[in-house]
Amino acid sequence: MDEKGTIVVSQNENKIYLSPPHMGEYELYNIQDAFQTNWIAPLGPHVDGFEREIAEYTGANGALALSSGTAAIHMALKLIGVREGDIVFCSSLTFVASANPILYEKAIPVFIDSEPSTWNMSVTALQRAFEDADKAGKLPKAVIIVNLYGQSADYENLLAICNRYEVPVIEDSAESLGAMYCGKPSGTWGKFGIFSFNGNKIITTSGGGMLVSNDLEALEKARFWSTQARDAAPHYQHSEVGYNYRMSNILAGIGRGQLKVLDSRVNMRRSVFDRYVQKLGGVPGIEFMPESSLGRSTRWLTSLIVDPLRVGVTSKHIIERLTANHIEARPVWKPLHLQPLFVDCLYYSHNEDESVSDNLFMQGVCLPSGSNLSISDQNRVIGTLLDILEQGENDIHPFREILNGSV
Ligand SMILES: *Cc1c(COP(=O)(O)O)cnc(C)c1O
Repeated sequence: MDEKGTIVVSQNENKIYLSPPHMGEYELYNIQDAFQTNWIAPLGPHVDGFEREIAEYTGANGALALSSGTAAIHMALKLIGVREGDIVFCSSLTFVASANPILYEKAIPVFIDSEPSTWNMSVTALQRAFEDADKAGKLPKAVIIVNLYGQSADYENLLAICNRYEVPVIEDSAESLGAMYCGKPSGTWGKFGIFSFNGNKIITTSGGGMLVSNDLEALEKARFWSTQARDAAPHYQHSEVGYNYRMSNILAGIGRGQLKVLDSRVNMRRSVFDRYVQKLGGVPGIEFMPESSLGRSTRWLTSLIVDPLRVGVTSKHIIERLTANHIEARPVWKPLHLQPLFVDCLYYSHNEDESVSDNLFMQGVCLPSGSNLSISDQNRVIGTLLDILEQGENDIHPFREILNGSV
């Protein structure tokens, strides 16, 4: 700490991180409050307060604070009644945690491609998947729709399909707390919405998650399961499998402080994005992730695609060179249908002969996007990136060579 009591960054000072934590004024105060009242664990008033405040912020009837976003997805699947052998549709272009809980319940994921206009679940691919499932006489039990990098999916059109087949939607809004779509907050479009407060998310409790819904009875059931499924009895009695999935009072105190600054964090991330576009948007062959005119993204991560033939370097080369310059950059998520874990799963691409997510993965780059990224650090990223583009990729041109047929 410095003389004012502010925590001084102790990580590598020269390294620029992709999406580091960004604490506000009240987090430490709430932790101290938890210590003073000895509400360290289990649960406590900050947990109740955080749930109430997330419900208010999103407009959902209720919220349940959990140990992770993954736990929230697991609880949502159980509430919908997903069991062994059931099918669950899920966005393919996402982090593995969107789909792991499907495997926890021994259900079968079927992956759905992205569409080019939002990078989120393709309406046409979802439609084809439903038609096939209907013909086969086995509709999915649930659909998990992911809001990628802070942008809501096209719920008007996606929900129209799911509603027609009467299949409930879980909105994986782990990356999109604070986003809007058609004037309605992210997380409130499906039967259940989930948020993550993992360390790299737009606000963080160091680790944690939240399940939101208008169905208060369902949330009570999940509350029961996630506290070891203790039956109402003076002794320890259990008739169902339980989980240890709740959030601690200390972490909820951090979350309440973070929620106070969420809107300013969203605005900061958006201005980081705007600056990248301003400086790099004119480079031929570079395209930033588009924003739907119906929504407002949080721009959790600034992501772009690089056409190697026009830019002269591959996304892989850019990431390697940025890393060598102590700048953390990442590829776009490797689609789940390409993961060894899911090799046997069915996949529906955007068109019969075009997989959008494959291309986004091959060409995508996520740039440092923290709400605490200083202008000078952002200039360093932009300057380094422009140098990389100018130098080109002389030693090897894998894409060119592949496309010219010379390898
Ligand atoms: C981070 C993330 C999760 C998982 O959240 P945890 O809190 O880390 O369990 C799920 N889905 C998506 C899309 C995420 O980005």
